Amino acid sequence: MAALGSISRRSFLTGRDDQPVRRLLPPGVAEDGLAACTGCGSCVDACPTAIIALVAGKPSLDFLAGECLLCGDCATVCPEPVFDRAVPPAFAHVVAISDACLARNGVSCMSCRDACPPMAIAFKPRIGGPFLPQLDEAACTGCGACIAPCPAQAIAVTPISMEPAHA
Ligand code: SF4
Ligand code: SF4
Ligand code: SF4
Repeated sequence: MAALGSISRRSFLTGRDDQPVRRLLPPGVAEDGLAACTGCGSCVDACPTAIIALVAGKPSLDFLAGECLLCGDCATVCPEPVFDRAVPPAFAHVVAISDACLARNGVSCMSCRDACPPMAIAFKPRIGGPFLPQLDEAACTGCGACIAPCPAQAIAVTPISMEPAHA
């Protein structure tokens, strides 16, 4: 995933400056479902971890603010056919650990493992350096709990929705 920091705060929030709107969809929202969103903000108010914000008038998650509990409260309160309620809330993404990882650079760190609810990150012992993280993509729920605790900002979500700048 390209760093959000490469996009100005103004363009991230508005989609102006000919920059596409980068959006991390709440669990259970497909891009075609997002078209039905009126921007009412009910999901923002309902999220127990306060990770939903309206970006260009529609919801987007911020895992630097916290994790998704996959509680489905956002889907429950949404008055429009935005969410797929036929299945339990789930993400279409997992996360990836980049080469900025401290352990991969010789510094012992297991913050991501300690933060991961389903224990999808294991550390493989090796001789001559810190243990290295190994992500089990099949076990990763995409909850984002490992993202904020990473001191090197080495964990990111992919893929995310990319909308045209002037949709
Ligand atoms: S599923 Fe729950 S925790 Fe996750 S974004 Fe929706 S309301 Fe927030
Ligand atoms: S509750 Fe539904 S319609 Fe309202 S902002 Fe959230 S996704 Fe959009
Ligand atoms: S996104 Fe959630 S489930 Fe996946 S590795 Fe990070 S903490 Fe674990």
